[in-house]
Amino acid sequence: GKNGVPVAENFQLEQSTIADTVQAGQVRVKTLYLSVDPYMRCRMNEDTGSDYLRPWQLSDVADGGGIGVVEESKHDNLAKGDFVTSFTWPWQTAAILDGNMLQKLVPQLVNGRLSYFLGAAGITGLTALLGIREKGHVAAGANQTMVVSGAAGACGSLAGQIGRLEGCSRVVGIAGTDEKCSILVQEMGFDAAINYKKGDVAKQLRELCPGGVDVYFDNVGGDISDTVISQMNQNSHIILCGQISQYNKDVPYPPPLPPDIEKIQKERNITRERFLVLNYMDKQEASVLQLCQWIQEGKLKVRETVVEGLENIGAAFQSMMNGGNIGKQIVSVSK
Ligand code: NAP
Repeated sequence: GKNGVPVAENFQLEQSTIADTVQAGQVRVKTLYLSVDPYMRCRMNEDTGSDYLRPWQLSDVADGGGIGVVEESKHDNLAKGDFVTSFTWPWQTAAILDGNMLQKLVPQLVNGRLSYFLGAAGITGLTALLGIREKGHVAAGANQTMVVSGAAGACGSLAGQIGRLEGCSRVVGIAGTDEKCSILVQEMGFDAAINYKKGDVAKQLRELCPGGVDVYFDNVGGDISDTVISQMNQNSHIILCGQISQYNKDVPYPPPLPPDIEKIQKERNITRERFLVLNYMDKQEASVLQLCQWIQEGKLKVRETVVEGLENIGAAFQSMMNGGNIGKQIVSVSK
């Protein structure tokens, strides 16, 4: 429901059997990895606030991004042993699925790290890359400063690195722990990172971005974003990726800015257009190849937080919503 904080107990594990026959066009799969993501919080409301998100129904099996292996196939293009993925994978250890809703995966593209297809080489990586390319107006040599909120999360950790690869000269992250901030700087090449739970964020941001902020990759919204927007330059750009700080509240998406911040946004001609990765799926194939190339070349450092066992998926979701993850939160299902 609206205005509620999600907890592990919202989810329940049940034992059941799947049909023993696979029909024409179907495959039987064993689940390997499931993804838990902030947008799922919106699926816990009767009104998800978006046309493209179906609410999860009480007592139905939840679903989301998943990866598995085909164990039996009656689909022309899929064979036993193929690795496959879908955005609507049921949260089950095994399932019979329509083969047409599955995409085949090539593990070599990610050095065998299959779960990356749910993160850095999947929707998460696409969100970071296409968000920057479609809404960031990053130009090599333009001496731009990028700030990323939710910077140590799945999208944020990639967005900062991609901002640099695309040409930003300075990249500063904002995240919720000292450990996250140190990983951003030591491992992921951010110039600096601010722990928003400690000290004065506005003051630190002024010191770390002396020329102001040109591009803001916004994953969180709320007070953090208000602080960043106050320090943005004339004709700068917000990549409105997500607003996780507002997802447990009954507010429209995207949430309106407070009047004083909106005044700054308008006066400084700061763009803040809604970005939805699903609107750019015509660029999926080429963009995934770009992400895989960067991963193989070691230019994109990838972090995952992996929780074992389908029985722990509710706890993994709760933890991710509360900052327990570094990089992509994955649930590993098959032993
Ligand atoms: P994520 O960042 O890996 O996980 C969520 C993180 O958000 C947590 O680790 C936590 O880190 C931070 N957080 C939680 N509550 C917060 C709060 N009140 N204030 C500040 N930070 C908070 O998740 P993700 O999958 O990469 O998603 C990031 C954002 O991208 C979300 O808003 C999501 O909805 C959005 N998204 C958008 C699209 C699109 O097409 N536009 C696609 C995918 C994802 P800290 O420890 O730093 O607080």
